[in-house]
Amino acid sequence: MTSSPAELQNFVAGSFVEGTATFENTNPVDGSLVSLIHEADRGIVDAAVVGARAALNGPWGSSTVAERAALLRRIADGIESRFDEFVTAEVADTGKPLALAEQMDVTRALVNFRTFADIISTAGTESFLTDTAGGGTALNYAVRKPLGVVAIIVPWNLPLLLLTWKVAPALACGNAVVVKPSEDTPSTATLLAEVIRDAGAASGVYNVVHGFGGNSAGQFLTEHPGINGVTFTGASATGSTIMRTVAPRLLPVSFELGGKNAALVFDDCDVERAVEGLTRSVFTNTGQVCLCTERVYIQRGVYKEVVAGLVEKAKGLRLGRPGAEGTTTGPLISDKHRVKVQGAFATALTEGAEVLVGGGVPDLGADLAGGSWIEPTLWAGLDNSASVMRDEIFGPVAGLVPFDTEEEGIHLANDTDYGLAASVWSSNIDRAHRVARRMEVGISWVNTWYLRDLRSPFGGSGLSGIGREGGQHSLNFYTELTNVCVAS
Ligand code: NAD
Repeated sequence: MTSSPAELQNFVAGSFVEGTATFENTNPVDGSLVSLIHEADRGIVDAAVVGARAALNGPWGSSTVAERAALLRRIADGIESRFDEFVTAEVADTGKPLALAEQMDVTRALVNFRTFADIISTAGTESFLTDTAGGGTALNYAVRKPLGVVAIIVPWNLPLLLLTWKVAPALACGNAVVVKPSEDTPSTATLLAEVIRDAGAASGVYNVVHGFGGNSAGQFLTEHPGINGVTFTGASATGSTIMRTVAPRLLPVSFELGGKNAALVFDDCDVERAVEGLTRSVFTNTGQVCLCTERVYIQRGVYKEVVAGLVEKAKGLRLGRPGAEGTTTGPLISDKHRVKVQGAFATALTEGAEVLVGGGVPDLGADLAGGSWIEPTLWAGLDNSASVMRDEIFGPVAGLVPFDTEEEGIHLANDTDYGLAASVWSSNIDRAHRVARRMEVGISWVNTWYLRDLRSPFGGSGLSGIGREGGQHSLNFYTELTNVCVAS
């Protein structure tokens, strides 16, 4: 006899509420059922937005910076005290290796809250003394006010990390939020509701509505007249849909979207370090990080050596259950996503790819046959005219391409509609600075990848997004500034 699956409800104005329908949340490791999710209809989304507005009109609306910073710190402590529950929930939804969920996802979630507690506690605003025509002065100073009810819509790849990256600064600035986690990874957003409630947040400050995108909770939320802004992480096409939805109301948006990120590997790099870093940047989280590298341009002098190193590392990755000894790599998020990645694998062959490693679905035995597994894959033989070198795949795959001159490498890396991240591998400090600055992206790493300082700007250009979050940039999005001008 099996026990009935857990049911996850919406969190609206301080209470868990049932949905009008339920849908299944499955584990991509083996296809087993994780939980039943209560889907929010328009009425539930409306109650969440109304609840958020009521919170803003209550004591939360006049909370002090010190009170909000203290709340954020209690939330971080709450996540820490339930650390293993968060890890278990994230792993069940995503299938990612346990160590990755611990080190990347859940640790970063509590760091997000602590960092924005610090940032809001020390943030100032601009002030200017202005000379006036009559020989006097005027004092101009800016005052921050919350944006209001903020809709937060996030994807499935780093569910809690990306959610808290937005919730933490939004609450630090005094907003109330309605969050819509991905239909594929609803668990940690729901657990966070308990933590935020137990940390003492007023009812309505944090609301969760579950469901899908179009014609479901995502669309209902962005269409709602009571929201004051949308912050969204996800696919570029979805960003464009959301932008159209909110355009008539001219709502502010912050978009962190897709990428087709390049790495530039120069002859003068530390090859071992570059291979190690590139292995991480191509394959971490089964390639399902917006910052992952899908195009690797390698200067001809080290091409063979770097390719051989990457192929060897790819062969050394261990696919398996999240907690199993030695597991480095989990499955893709879903069968639906695997169909997309397999489609890219097939297209690559028609476009002339030479498969150096991978390229198919691995046989991991009957136990894992129901999972969304895919082989880590590297291609040679493609150039930038191939669609698989232009369109985001979001899987454990990259094309390896030789180049000759620095100028050619820069051109190839920038030859994309996206503009999220790049990495430059070189031991020549002048070249490293020179090339890194010329990358047309939001973040350009030198001899590293995914090293983040949460005070620094984060975001992308082109199809990769609109705006920047991080540090002061987050405060700017989550607040409205009023400039006060006092003549004397
Ligand atoms: P997605 O756009 O399909 O879904 C993201 C979220 O949007 C989900 O919660 C979904 O339900 C919701 N949604 C979908 N359609 C909607 C609509 N019409 N209205 C409102 N909400 C809607 O993206 P995904 O497949 O979940 O995530 C993968 C994508 O996210 C990749 O493109 C990846 O590069 C991108 N991403 C970007 C960053 C970044 O920081 N730039 C970080 C992580 C992921």
